[in-house]
Amino acid sequence: MTIPFDLKNSIRTIPDYPKPGIMFRDITTMLGDARAFRCAIDELVQPWSGAKIDKVAGMEARGFILGGAVAHQLSAGFVPIRKKGKLPHTTVKIAYSLEYGLDEMEIHDDAVVAGERVILVDDLIATGGTATGAIQLLKQIGADVVAACFVIDLPALGGAKKIEDLGVPVRTLMSFD
Ligand code: 5GP
Repeated sequence: MTIPFDLKNSIRTIPDYPKPGIMFRDITTMLGDARAFRCAIDELVQPWSGAKIDKVAGMEARGFILGGAVAHQLSAGFVPIRKKGKLPHTTVKIAYSLEYGLDEMEIHDDAVVAGERVILVDDLIATGGTATGAIQLLKQIGADVVAACFVIDLPALGGAKKIEDLGVPVRTLMSFD
């Protein structure tokens, strides 16, 4: 995928965050730049403009910001996937592995109607552990997961390939080594 104009330059890299040896790709600088934020959302939705997408699912917390904007642009609903203990109604839970640890995420069990077409959105895919867990939750409650979109891919960690191997097409806008 060709990187749209200055989008990659709008991402700030923070060395040794949250722990030594990690190069953290900080999207807050992209979100704070009106032109870059608009460009990222336009690029993320581009394959589905005019397509029937019922819902966009986003992972806490940066996936809420991007997923909310993508849902609005596609005139779709938004489904939050959250860390355990944050959702008030009955949930389905899953344990998942992160680039730096283990956690549990959950979704409301009535967040989609069976067969609804859903796009998953997050800021970045690394090992794919978070997205795999989210896709499993969405499938468990009956969603048809049509794609997963990320602003940033870290291809060395193999996450995007893992998601494609699950049969879910992946869209990313840029990659970092
Ligand atoms: P994965 O589960 O694919 O290993 O990691 C992706 C998840 O961790 C995403 O939810 C993403 O928000 C977060 N993450 C991991 N590394 C980074 C990073 O360098 N920058 C940002 N913005 N998020 C990261």
